Amino acid sequence: MRILSLGAGVQSSTLALMIKNGEVPMVDAAIFADTGAEPRGVYAYLDWLESVLPFPVYRVQKDDGLLENIKQSVAGGRFAGAPFFTRSPKDGRPAMLHRQCTKEFKIEPIVKKVRELVGLKKGQRGPRGKILATQYIGISWDEVQRMKPSLVPWIVHEWPLIDRRMTRADCLRWIGDRGYPLPSKSSCTFCPYHDAAAWRDIKLNDQESWDQAVEVDRMIRTGDRGTVDKLYVHRSLKPIEEVDFRNAEDAGQMSMFTEECEGMCGV
Ligand code: SF4
Repeated sequence: MRILSLGAGVQSSTLALMIKNGEVPMVDAAIFADTGAEPRGVYAYLDWLESVLPFPVYRVQKDDGLLENIKQSVAGGRFAGAPFFTRSPKDGRPAMLHRQCTKEFKIEPIVKKVRELVGLKKGQRGPRGKILATQYIGISWDEVQRMKPSLVPWIVHEWPLIDRRMTRADCLRWIGDRGYPLPSKSSCTFCPYHDAAAWRDIKLNDQESWDQAVEVDRMIRTGDRGTVDKLYVHRSLKPIEEVDFRNAEDAGQMSMFTEECEGMCGV
């Protein structure tokens, strides 16, 4: 079985359309792991992809999604696992919380769906030394450091864009040259991995996503389960609406597109 991990961002959407056009071998299905916190434009693009792709697209979600999980976490529930910023108790400098969200809300729901598609029963182990599924991951040549092997031994990852040396810019060119609508960047609206350019873009061009990021940023201020200090979505440890994105200071915000993020978010 061949599966496409579909994030409905630039790279995985390019891959989906290359498969449709016969430039990459056909898949049995695509799987979109929904955090419940993507910008509206990503869901709209996914709707469009579903209408043109010649293979089924399954949307999967852990519980009620990451956004709901964060709400429950600040109310005393289980730690949400998003890598928010806080003050390090060691030296008082900004530090990121441990990130579990990619694994819990992206990787594991996809593996669970692949298990179902290949016919593994609940609790049944995959066979030793046998590959049951190949999973295409839409990482581009400029993000080669994000390539990671599968968490389970019976799924093998392949990276067709890397094989073709295609960068993110090449993907946008490929889509534009064929007259398809251009996808936008996929990632949770409040993702602390946004770099300055991404925050600026959201603030200027996507009011709804910006409002959601501000809402989450305010919501987490009292801390998350197990944290002792205030939390922020931005490394300046300021409310996001107070950050001046023209500041040189802001240029220090890490980007998920340069930091490894297991290649499952933002593609
Ligand atoms: S986009 Fe960011 S917040 Fe969302 S799952 Fe990925 S790392 Fe976590």
